[in-house]
Amino acid sequence: CGIVGVLGNHEAAPILVEALKRLEYRGYDSAGIATVNHGTLDRRRAVGKLVNLSDLLVHDPLRGKSGIGHTRWATHGVPSVVNAHPHQAGPVAVVHNGIIENFRELRAELQDAGIQFVTETDTETVALMTQRYIAEGLEPVEAARKTLSRLDGAFALAFLFEGEDDLIVAARKGSPLAIGHGEGEMFVGSDAIALAPLTDRITYLEEGDSAVLTRTSLEIRNKDGEVANREVRTIHLDQ
Ligand code: GLU
Repeated sequence: CGIVGVLGNHEAAPILVEALKRLEYRGYDSAGIATVNHGTLDRRRAVGKLVNLSDLLVHDPLRGKSGIGHTRWATHGVPSVVNAHPHQAGPVAVVHNGIIENFRELRAELQDAGIQFVTETDTETVALMTQRYIAEGLEPVEAARKTLSRLDGAFALAFLFEGEDDLIVAARKGSPLAIGHGEGEMFVGSDAIALAPLTDRITYLEEGDSAVLTRTSLEIRNKDGEVANREVRTIHLDQ
């Protein structure tokens, strides 16, 4: 299972699929990507191997230079297209590895507010909660942060937003996440190997960190919400 994200200067879909291929060694049962194209958020998902997602994208392309991608190893909900990531709720799409331990509580809270679920996953809770905070008037970054503050468990997450062609929010708690620095591009991946063809300049998030990425900036906050300095390392991997 793996997470990738791209704020690039080229079409994101093939870059996302290629980066996911580099995470195939982790195993997965389904895969998907979401992009933002001039503000419009959309996604494609397929069960089985990445070639199924690639085939789908040939017939039904997804344009845009910003995107997130995911290979899923199901923990909550059977492997299916509906349960595959990214999970989209209105203006937000989310990819997630790991488990949200308190999702039942959070789901009950949202259901009490009249919000409907369409999947069996723990992840959909994250998307619906963020959508709700945005509907209440929070900016995307604040909505994602507020959602993150409510999650228990071990996970890595990446968020992509409608109307935001230059924004990804990412977070790590118990699952590794690496940020890649390009030339006017920014990337995120479960590990540096996923990003090796894109960049060798990597910042590793530390436990409890959240990150706000644009093409030209990276702001990391620690688990207490304080801005944190994390070093940029040049790593050498065989491609
Ligand atoms: N718990 C999530 C799900 O079952 C994410 C699984 C994963 O790590 O891929 O959809």
